[in-house]
Amino acid sequence: MQQLAPGIYAYVQPDGGWCINNAGVVIGEDTTVVIDTAATERRARLLREEIAKVSLRTPNLLVNTHFHGDHHFGNAQFSPPATIVAHEVARTEIIEAGLGLRQLWPQVEWGETPLTPPTLTFHDAITIHAGQTRIELMHLGPAHTTNDIFVWVPESRVLFAGDVLWNGVTPFCLMGSIAGSLQVIERLRELDPVLIVPGHGDVGGPELFDANEAYLRWIQDIARDGHASGLSTLEVASKTDLGEFAGLLDPERLVGNLHRAYAELAGLAPGARIDVAAAFGEMVAHHGRLPDCHA
Ligand SMILES: [Zn+2]
Repeated sequence: MQQLAPGIYAYVQPDGGWCINNAGVVIGEDTTVVIDTAATERRARLLREEIAKVSLRTPNLLVNTHFHGDHHFGNAQFSPPATIVAHEVARTEIIEAGLGLRQLWPQVEWGETPLTPPTLTFHDAITIHAGQTRIELMHLGPAHTTNDIFVWVPESRVLFAGDVLWNGVTPFCLMGSIAGSLQVIERLRELDPVLIVPGHGDVGGPELFDANEAYLRWIQDIARDGHASGLSTLEVASKTDLGEFAGLLDPERLVGNLHRAYAELAGLAPGARIDVAAAFGEMVAHHGRLPDCHA
């Protein structure tokens, strides 16, 4: 647990790989807001215990930044009594996806993670008034998924970015949009945050915008070249040298990202449904095994 400003904390889980996400807490005079939970019962309990050390009040609001299980499987540790807030599509997708993610990595000790969907949803924006502290929740279009929301605390200029920004970890847009992510990052820049809590990896500053943007533009470039040469996404991935991005964790996401970039080159709208399971299978083939999950 890292204090970022008075009453504002980031909960950072190293090393930020598959299903090892960050969370956050904003404590106002009469409200304690938790931002995301964790993938397993053990990790979510630990998060709750760490929050209890900084907030005397039991959290009464919980925000899920998007529908991925690592960010909400721990919801039951907080709700009841917390009201869970998310984008309206996140609720639908949480219910549709259920606990499916657990089947992907059966060796993980998931514990009890009963599906606990958000009960308060919105479409564009909503503001929480936690005493004097304004906490703005906003959705800016498809990016990492179709239902990402951001938590912005203007007074302290702290941004909780969910999985739209990553630090030292490969971005992943298979279920969202590469072009959309770039547009959303532009809009987040305008907020002019001082501190950014990414969905995975260490807390950073505005340099995270540049780093994520550089990766996404590179994906668009190699996808455009590969597409023009008639190569499949797997062929592009096989011949690609990761170069400056070789140091990012979970590099196999390249394949999923190329799939999304190819869909966009073919004219698909940002966030339109594609065969995610097939793309994930190809990613496994390219990697030679399932991605590593140390949750
Ligand atoms: Zn995610």
